Amino acid sequence: MLIMNPTKPFYIDKKNKVIRMGNFKYIGKEIEYEDEVFIKLFDYLKKPIKKKELIDSLEKNTSYDREDIDNTINYLIEEKFIINKEEYDELIDDKIYNREKLYFYMLNDNKVMFDNIKNKKILILGVGAIGSISINLLARSGFNNFIIVDNDYVEESNLIRQLTYDKNDIGKLKVNIIKEKMYNINSNINIKIKNKLILEDIDIEKEIESSDFVLCTIDKPIRVIRRLINDLCIKHNKPVLFSGFAESTAIIGPFVVPYKSACLSCIENITNDEIYNNVEIVPSYGPLCNLISSITVDEIINYFLNFKKTNLIGKSLMFNMYNYETEIINWEKNKNCKKCGDKNDSNEFMQKL
Ligand SMILES: [Zn+2]
Repeated sequence: MLIMNPTKPFYIDKKNKVIRMGNFKYIGKEIEYEDEVFIKLFDYLKKPIKKKELIDSLEKNTSYDREDIDNTINYLIEEKFIINKEEYDELIDDKIYNREKLYFYMLNDNKVMFDNIKNKKILILGVGAIGSISINLLARSGFNNFIIVDNDYVEESNLIRQLTYDKNDIGKLKVNIIKEKMYNINSNINIKIKNKLILEDIDIEKEIESSDFVLCTIDKPIRVIRRLINDLCIKHNKPVLFSGFAESTAIIGPFVVPYKSACLSCIENITNDEIYNNVEIVPSYGPLCNLISSITVDEIINYFLNFKKTNLIGKSLMFNMYNYETEIINWEKNKNCKKCGDKNDSNEFMQKL
């Protein structure tokens, strides 16, 4: 059975003889038509119809022969103006994830391997503002396996932005609260928790080694912790996304895929400055943290499903919440990098694999 692609709206401009699918050019398509047979064809397709039945009806009611009609239908199937109803029904059969699957279908004109994300193990370092919202979004998107590492307790001042926590959680350990609440969202979930402040390799190496993806939302001790995480991810060949903010600017990235894109060590800026004042209590803003988490999770989902043509691998996205200025920085991989460069032993080992 065939139907008009129901994931995007169709517009027919009879005056200019144009059929457009989708509201925006980046996912939409436009075709010009010469003959009214197109309009008739879409009239029949308002309801599901068998291909043979469609050809028969058009042959009877237009001056076109079967071959022309068949070629036209095949062209429209190829361009995804027309799709298979059975394929569409399979997507909407899934109660929980059907809207999300339709979203991927809308962008791809094809099913993506959604089941790929189910068993991927995501290691989340820090379940403060960005980590706690990110795990919430990931657990709702179909990810079932997590390791979370944090040693903080919920404080009243967290509630303005850390949406997963509420008043009843104040004073409790964040990792415990997350485990309990995520189970209420998705009962298939499996979360390993670790109540630990990361200070050296041994605190986190095992978890990195056993994960499929690392989301790093921690930045203390400043200039030290991210390097430690970067180096371990290079060592164990794990993709890592660093997400955070500075003042009012969201910084999503660098997104490091070891040996394929620049790592933190590749882009290291030698600075001689050191912080002199106490910045223990950092200004923070709910809308900014939620925005960072949304883009972060979109990147993680896309890493596994590949449903978009663009991504942030090897880049950082900067978005200033103050004036909405956006910038994407492309990081150059340094072939002399001590951690992931050509001369690095582990890289030679990787290339031989
Ligand atoms: Zn590097």
